[in-house]
Amino acid sequence: MNPTDLPDVSVLAAPLYLALIGLEALRIRAGRWKGRYEARDTATSLTMGAGSVVAGGLFGGIAASVLFAAWEARLATIPVSIGSLLAAFVLGDLVYYWQHRLGHRVRWFWAAHVTHHSSTHYNLGTALRQSWMGPLTGLFALNLPLVWIGFHPGMLAFVSGLNLVYQFWIHTEAIDRLPRWFEAVFNTPSHHRVHHAKNPRYLDANYAGTLIVWDRWFGTFVPEQEAEPVCYGLVHDLDSYNPLWVAYHEVIAIARDLVRPGLMPGERLRYLLAPPGWSHDGSRQTSDELKRASGIVAPCPTPLRPSPATT
Ligand SMILES: [Zn+2]
Ligand SMILES: [Zn+2]
Repeated sequence: MNPTDLPDVSVLAAPLYLALIGLEALRIRAGRWKGRYEARDTATSLTMGAGSVVAGGLFGGIAASVLFAAWEARLATIPVSIGSLLAAFVLGDLVYYWQHRLGHRVRWFWAAHVTHHSSTHYNLGTALRQSWMGPLTGLFALNLPLVWIGFHPGMLAFVSGLNLVYQFWIHTEAIDRLPRWFEAVFNTPSHHRVHHAKNPRYLDANYAGTLIVWDRWFGTFVPEQEAEPVCYGLVHDLDSYNPLWVAYHEVIAIARDLVRPGLMPGERLRYLLAPPGWSHDGSRQTSDELKRASGIVAPCPTPLRPSPATT
């Protein structure tokens, strides 16, 4: 099979997404399932989902041209088969973990990913709340090693679509816990609820796409605790349903910081690349600072440096 013939399953599944969102909303309204829907919030989530497909179409050529240039310099050619697709899926899931982790820890990448976290609700509609920046952040470059070792960009796009489809169903409060073996290996509604939390205890945790084992291995796994219900949304919620603002507010905030008068070049760079919440005068808080302030250390503890009004 030609890798370029593989479909984009994440877009083909759109009717399924809409059907399941409708089903979840009806069951919640009937009092049968746990959860909450709000019309304005869901409308924004659906708009963000549609816009992300458009952004992918507009900017996708950038990623494609870079990845296909790398393909010309590949070390080997891995043919399409069940086994190679499985390997591409697992390795792609590992790449996704690091893309997602960087998406939370580097402000430029967060400027795109923040969109996904901008709802104060957690339901299947929230899953569609995706970035309108597409490959403009440059994070797609983390796939380059997989292309160089012989995975065709078409294969990687296919398994990335499968990964997104997997992540759809975990955006729900209707499912509490799954069998222990499944929770141990796979990303689940419980694990991903933690990821969407703004409680300090839960910040910067559970970056997994499909396999939660990456978080367990790299020290970012935090279990959902019954004693601390999840509060969904951003540390500073947007309070806006305007899709353009949801999509680009953090890019605008970065631009404003970059042109502030009187900053050292290094400070401007940190406004772009330091963790979200960093500020040159300590007027804001990063997630690590929020955790320290609440007495909760990060799941992957970093040494507490005496630092000025920065980190
Ligand atoms: Zn995230
Ligand atoms: Zn999510």
